[in-house]
Amino acid sequence: MSLFDHVIPAGDGFLHAIPAGARFRITDLEGNQAVDTLFFCLPDTAERYDAAATLQAQRRVYLTTGSRLMSSRGRCMLTITGDTCGRHDTLGGACACETNQVRYALEKRHMHACRETFLLLAQNAPGYALGKRDCAHNINFFMNVPVTPEGGLTFADGISGPDRWVEMRAETDVLVMISNCPQLNNPCNGWNPTPVRVQAWAA
Ligand SMILES: [Zn+2]
Repeated sequence: MSLFDHVIPAGDGFLHAIPAGARFRITDLEGNQAVDTLFFCLPDTAERYDAAATLQAQRRVYLTTGSRLMSSRGRCMLTITGDTCGRHDTLGGACACETNQVRYALEKRHMHACRETFLLLAQNAPGYALGKRDCAHNINFFMNVPVTPEGGLTFADGISGPDRWVEMRAETDVLVMISNCPQLNNPCNGWNPTPVRVQAWAA
């Protein structure tokens, strides 16, 4: 049974609960689109996706089929069950007005960024008691952030393509929060942010 089927416009956001056992899929409709994503446990959203715990549990930097997304209290929140892209970033974080300014130019400060989308979603979801402190380190689905031999990070052109998707199973009741990245100053969106589709089906 379909729980939702929604196209997130380029640069827009999405927030929705996903019950335990449900399948959740994100499709990169046009390719090369970074999908900045946070997960929270329900009903207590103080427990949330934890990048450090996830990397430690799987002993890998990138996410793909079989990866278990761990919570800040050590529980598996979701398991990636299918992936036609191949790998997803855990390190690059979300773009922000501040990083746009530092990385690119002073006048980039006022461009819309993922962190603004996260804060807007949190602010407009009064039922979930989310705030600024909940906008912690996120996953970037479909985004290519290679680790250099020196241990640095680079934002590289995408490895995703049109209609590639990633699917996961919720292991507990979760809330998904997405910023469909509006970034125009690096190649993470192929210099052209595009829509993505999110779907979920009950167990
Ligand atoms: Zn972004």
